[in-house]
Amino acid sequence: MARLSEFALIQQYFESITEQRRDVGLGVGDDCALLHCPTDKMLAVSIDTLVENVHFFADVDPESLGHKSLAVNLSDLAAMGAEPAWFTLALTLPNTDTDWLQSFSKGLGQLARKHRISLVGGDTTRGPLSITIQVHGFVEKTTTMRRDGAQPGDFIFVTGTLGDAGACLAIKQNKVLPTVLSEHDMTFLQQRLERPVPRIAASQVIKSYASSAIDISDGLVADLSHITDKSHCGAQLDVDKLPLSPALAKLDLAQAKRLALYAGDDYELCFTVPANDVDALMASCAEQCTCIGRIIEGSEVSLIDNGHDITPTGKGYEHFTND
Ligand code: ADP
Ligand code: MG
Repeated sequence: MARLSEFALIQQYFESITEQRRDVGLGVGDDCALLHCPTDKMLAVSIDTLVENVHFFADVDPESLGHKSLAVNLSDLAAMGAEPAWFTLALTLPNTDTDWLQSFSKGLGQLARKHRISLVGGDTTRGPLSITIQVHGFVEKTTTMRRDGAQPGDFIFVTGTLGDAGACLAIKQNKVLPTVLSEHDMTFLQQRLERPVPRIAASQVIKSYASSAIDISDGLVADLSHITDKSHCGAQLDVDKLPLSPALAKLDLAQAKRLALYAGDDYELCFTVPANDVDALMASCAEQCTCIGRIIEGSEVSLIDNGHDITPTGKGYEHFTND
C-alpha cells in the first residue's frame, strides 16, 4: 500500500471533490473556513458520527459508506426544512488504503454535488475507522419544522416507505428468512440500507405546511415519540396505513409491520400537518407522502391495527440501552 502524507491525502481525495460555492470565502487549506451567511436566514447545524461495527459492517462498500455518511446528515437538514450549504469531515482511518479512499470520496462527492453542498474543512487522524460529518444549511427564521409544534387534530405523514433498511439488516443478521425475496428485492433493500435518499426536495415543499417534523433514524415509533414529547401531545397511528415497499410486503405481514414501526435507518421524514393544509400538501408534494395517523391529546404513541388497539412492543435503536 502506498504511503500518503496527511496533506497529500486531503488534497487528493477531499479538497476538490465538491462544488466551490460562491458563499465560501475560504475553504479547505487554512486554520478555519470562512463562510458568508445570508442575513435573512438562520444557520442550521447538525453532526453525525458513523463508527465501524456500530453503524456499518467492516466489509461495507466504501463508495456506499461515503454516500451514507453524508446522507444521514443531509437527512437532518431535510428534517428541519433547511437548504444544504457546507459540511466538514472528520475522518479517523486505520491506514491510508488508496483504493478505499478513492471509493469513499467518490460516493461522498457524488451526493455532495447533487445537493450543492461544499466540503469546507475537516480533520484527518489515525485510529479505528470512524467518520464524522457536520453539515450547515440555511433555514427560514420562521421555520415550523421543529419537534415542538404538533397540535391535537394534526395529521401525521411519512415520506417514502418504512422498514426496508431494517429488513435488510435483519436478513444480514439472519433474524428474517429471505426465502420469499427475489434478487431484485434484495438489491432494493440493500440500497435502502446502504444508500439512503435524504428527502431534501420533499422537505422544501413540506416546510410550507408542516407544524412539526423529524427524520426517522431510530424507528418510526421512537422518532414520533420525540415529536409527541416535545409537543406535549399524543399520537394515534393506523398500522394498516404504513407505506410498505413491494419487497417488504412479501415478508410475513406482522413482521413487515414490526419493521416499519420499530426498525431504524430509513431516513424518511415524519411530519405533522394541520387539517386545513392537508389538501394543499397533497396537491403540491410530488414525492410519496402517506397519512398514517393523527395527533391527539395525551402523551403516548398508540397503535390501531385492524381496528384494534395494540400497545407498542418495541423501541427504536438506542445506543446505551439496546445491549
Ligand atoms: P489544523 O492543524 O490547523 O487544524 P489540519 O492540518 O488538521 O489543520 O488541516 C489542514 C486543512 O485541511 C484544514 O483546512 C482542514 O480543514 C482541512 N482538512 C483536514 N482534514 C480534512 C478532511 N478529511 N476533509 C476536508 N478537509 C480536511
Ligand atoms: Mg490550525
